[in-house]
Amino acid sequence: MNIKNIFQKIFRKSQEQSDHFNLQKYFTLYSIGFFILLTTLLGFVFITHEKKLLVDSAVSSAKEFALQLNYHVHEEGIVSNLMANNGPSLEKSQDFERLDKVISEYLSEFPEILKIKIFDRTGRTIYSSDHEAVGAMNTHDQLKMALSGQIASVLTRRMRPMTTDSAETGKMYKVDVLEIYLPIYESKKRMDLQEKVIGAFEVYKDVSKVFSKAKTGGYTISMLFILSMSILFLIWQMIIRKADMTIKLKNYEIKKYNRELEEAQHKISESIDEVIKHESFHVRYMNENLIKCWEFKECKKADCPSYESKNLRCWQVAGTFCGGIVQGVFAKKYGDCRQCQVFKHALSNRINTIGESFNNMMALLQIKHLELQEANKKLNVLIDVDPLTQIANRRSFQNRIESIHLISLRYNHSYSIIICDIDNFKLYNDTYGHQQGDYVLITVANAMKSSIRKTDEIFRWGGEEFIVILPEQNQSDALKIAENLRVSVYDLGIKHKKSDLQAVTISCGVASFYPCKTKDIGWDHVVKQADDALYKAKLGKKNCVYSAAII
Ligand code: GH3
Ligand code: MG
Ligand code: MG
Repeated sequence: MNIKNIFQKIFRKSQEQSDHFNLQKYFTLYSIGFFILLTTLLGFVFITHEKKLLVDSAVSSAKEFALQLNYHVHEEGIVSNLMANNGPSLEKSQDFERLDKVISEYLSEFPEILKIKIFDRTGRTIYSSDHEAVGAMNTHDQLKMALSGQIASVLTRRMRPMTTDSAETGKMYKVDVLEIYLPIYESKKRMDLQEKVIGAFEVYKDVSKVFSKAKTGGYTISMLFILSMSILFLIWQMIIRKADMTIKLKNYEIKKYNRELEEAQHKISESIDEVIKHESFHVRYMNENLIKCWEFKECKKADCPSYESKNLRCWQVAGTFCGGIVQGVFAKKYGDCRQCQVFKHALSNRINTIGESFNNMMALLQIKHLELQEANKKLNVLIDVDPLTQIANRRSFQNRIESIHLISLRYNHSYSIIICDIDNFKLYNDTYGHQQGDYVLITVANAMKSSIRKTDEIFRWGGEEFIVILPEQNQSDALKIAENLRVSVYDLGIKHKKSDLQAVTISCGVASFYPCKTKDIGWDHVVKQADDALYKAKLGKKNCVYSAAII
């Protein structure tokens, strides 16, 4: 099992147990066990290794010591003399004193060597730096065997307990000693090596010190290892803790998201139900091909996507396909709709339901939005146009005259206006009826509109009155245009038996604005002047044009 699998397993477990799962606890137990095992193993390895190093160094120092001593013993002939004087006591011998001196020097040079003994080939002790015999019998037997069989070999004997005195306290200590036997023989050139081997050193080394050193070293390394591992462990714990918190946070977010999703689904389902129940509701889709297709296919088979179920067709639920042919990305994703997999999927997967419901709602909204835009456009037109005569209305006039007046002031250009009123129109209505009066209004409006230039504008001022704006026109031009308007209406020849002229006529009042002369008056004043002029025309015989005095 690799790391990835382990982690996957753990995270699966964390998801199953959700809030209650504690990743940190899970890892801590295993981590502690693992670290204890590893530390023990490493401590053991370090101690063994250290011990071997120290024993090796003891053997090599003993070897060196033996070589040097060997040289002195043979070159200076000490042992030869001892051998020759087999009889006399060692203590009294001069050779012994010399040997003792040499060995003492070497012992001070190699402090870890505790004791030296020299044997002859028969195993008799011929010299000892310490008169205490330690394991003599056993040592001699092994020595004999070793020296007769293995010339110049080093025999390292097993360690065994030894009792020593402590000079300071007088107490007896048991220590481990390492006995090292090294052969002493004469120069190879002069004699047969096997024959002339005369003895060995018994080198005692305080093994307990070696052990304590090895243990100290091992413990130090182990402690350092434990320390570094503890730091790593702490870091590891921090990482796990963070991961643990992240998992919990994610779980919380997922739950929250699921809750929101369920709520949203519920709301959408509710609103869709509401819309569907509504009498005037018809599902309208943007895809024209689909609409046509659905209209023609009337499928009654239960396994067909178009099958109707609980007032919902499966394409309404699941996607856009028609007559068994997948139509949209959503449905394509779920494959063969003839098997009605889409339907099944849609019912089993609430996200699909929400998605499709959302799509439907959006399509509906888009259509409504376009309709609204269209309606707004119409409304904007209607708001400025008079519905009867289809010319611009009084509201539109006000917007227009304001800008004309400002332009006039800005560029110091004049403009004029004409107000026209149908003569005796009340009488006309009374005589011919209101409907006929409407017809006359439309006819008169069209006639006047056709007789003005495209740059001039005509508006219905109210009732049977019209107003014309003549940008850039002075009063004499305006009078001519007003006269044209009057004639154009008279020429219509609409019969009006209650009128003096037996025809429908209009009277006009003209006023002009000259910014160089009258800067401070507004457009409403100009209109009033025109109205006054019209009033004068009405006072006369009507069917005439009057102008106001130049403002
Ligand atoms: P004057 O020559 O002095 O202008 O007399 P008049 O009868 O034309 O003026 P008055 O203001 O007395 O009457 C205006 C009439 O216009 C009254 C109203 O019935 C008629 N009128 C106003 N608006 C409409 C309309 O939209 N349709 C019809 N058919 N008649 C309207
Ligand atoms: Mg009037
Ligand atoms: Mg009138």
